[in-house]
Amino acid sequence: MSAEHQWRWQPLLEQWVLIAATSGSRPWSGASTTQVSEAVPEHDPNCYLCPGVTRARGGINPNYVAPWAFDNDFASLVPVAPTADETNRSDDPLNRTAPPRGRCRVLCWHPSHNKTLAACSEQEIVDVAKLWQSEYASLSSDDSIAQVMMFENKGKEVGVSNLHPHGQIYAANAVSDYGQRIRQSQHQYAQANNGQPLLQALLARDEYKDALLVEQGSYFKTIVPFAARLPFETWIVPLRHVQSVNHFDSAELLELSLMYQRQVRRYDQLFQRSSPLLTLFQNAPCDTNQANADWCFHIALQPPLRDSDTLKYFAGYEASSNNVVNPVQPEKAAAALRGCDPDKAQTW
Ligand SMILES: [Zn+2]
Repeated sequence: MSAEHQWRWQPLLEQWVLIAATSGSRPWSGASTTQVSEAVPEHDPNCYLCPGVTRARGGINPNYVAPWAFDNDFASLVPVAPTADETNRSDDPLNRTAPPRGRCRVLCWHPSHNKTLAACSEQEIVDVAKLWQSEYASLSSDDSIAQVMMFENKGKEVGVSNLHPHGQIYAANAVSDYGQRIRQSQHQYAQANNGQPLLQALLARDEYKDALLVEQGSYFKTIVPFAARLPFETWIVPLRHVQSVNHFDSAELLELSLMYQRQVRRYDQLFQRSSPLLTLFQNAPCDTNQANADWCFHIALQPPLRDSDTLKYFAGYEASSNNVVNPVQPEKAAAALRGCDPDKAQTW
């Protein structure tokens, strides 16, 4: 059995991933996804993220000129007075309920509707990263918040029709399922290895010095994880153990933001389009759990594509197992990404 057919252990989620690289060359007669090029205006009066626009519920966006955030008008999590919570709580083992408190934020990366992160200037992308810092610092200081989940959904393939460059935050009063797993795995690894952080131990391994390395920076590495769950998943991981984005100094933040931008450009080149992408900014939970100290910040980038016009679906096998089949060998994915020119920003 070759490395093209292998169970690989994903140590953060403590989960097996089935690498089945030949399934990527199966005849495909299923759905394809293509991007139709269309002219996108710099300002869209019907976009609720554009400067100066009146939103559906009456709020008026300021004429912002730098990254800007606001509370989502249709939030899944809202702050509620603690007294109201008691009517929304049950410990009945078959019908447990709990009050979902928190805040949902919308993060506008740029005032221009048609700007992509790949095309931002150095200062603009650093300003975006400073918003990651300020939002995490502000929300994590709220005692009612247990985890600040920051992410970007990009592209109609992941359900986003609004092209305006933006991310989101779910700051919840509970740690997510994945959050609990990732925290527990890092804590257990550190406890078993004299405090050594899991992700830095991973980076020190030989495969992350060549075969799975996409970019080596002074403070970060961009890697394809050995047990990548998506065909072209990458992680940007700091060389030093840092729990959350707000602890990076200006030199680190500059490199992080530029490496992030270069990885977005690689995806655009690889798929010859403005690539759909899920970007997960994995900051430590901010509740009182001592295990948070062992969490290391990283960015997980997960394009949903197998190639430029085919989606990777999470279908019956994934739904019935919670394991994942990855049809692309991670070493080949890393080689393909290394072959892209990250300094070339193209307009698609
Ligand atoms: Zn817009």
